[in-house]
Amino acid sequence: MANYTGPVCRLCRREGVKLYLKGAKCVSNCTFDKRNALLPGQHGMARRRKVSDYGIQLRAKQRARRMYGVLETQFRHYFERAESATGVTGTVLLQQLERRLDNVVYRLGLAASRKEARQLVNHRHFTVNGRVQSIPSAQIRPGDVVAVREKSRTLEPIQNALSLLPNRSVPDWLTLDADQLRGTVLRLPDRQEMELVIDEQLIVEYYSR
Ligand code: SF4
Repeated sequence: MANYTGPVCRLCRREGVKLYLKGAKCVSNCTFDKRNALLPGQHGMARRRKVSDYGIQLRAKQRARRMYGVLETQFRHYFERAESATGVTGTVLLQQLERRLDNVVYRLGLAASRKEARQLVNHRHFTVNGRVQSIPSAQIRPGDVVAVREKSRTLEPIQNALSLLPNRSVPDWLTLDADQLRGTVLRLPDRQEMELVIDEQLIVEYYSR
């Protein structure tokens, strides 16, 4: 998570959904299903209570923000841009999150989590259309080609991610050339191809209060 350095499994319990913040461990060693009835903290069970409309909207926004690892200010910018764009605000908001370079790397299966993808991009291990791109939030467009740099192909995090490929599927709006470690963005994602556990209408309501 951007600027969050505490235990990430706690965030999944807080949001009541698996956020997949630990990469491969989220598949092989996740305790969420055993503990998802509990909020984080010593008195998690006792703190379940009726939540206000505001609380529900806030949680929806926090869930999306944490899932994509975006800071509050940046998330608000995404919303403001979506609001002034043509199209359904909630869908455009999610598309902007999906089009982040770190998310595209994660979706292609070239990183085990969005967090790892962000680190790999930061450390200049990826190119976009043949040029090194080190900004995880860079917006990727249809037709763009995202690739692992030649010298980075043997990096352990990338090799680990590749070993998970048989258990993952690349969404239809992307295509992956696994031999060349290169992916192409075919089009913008449809709503059903983005995170289904996010209720974008609640996020719109949160910012429209
Ligand atoms: Fe932890 Fe990953 Fe499971 Fe979330 S999905 S609880 S981050 S192991």
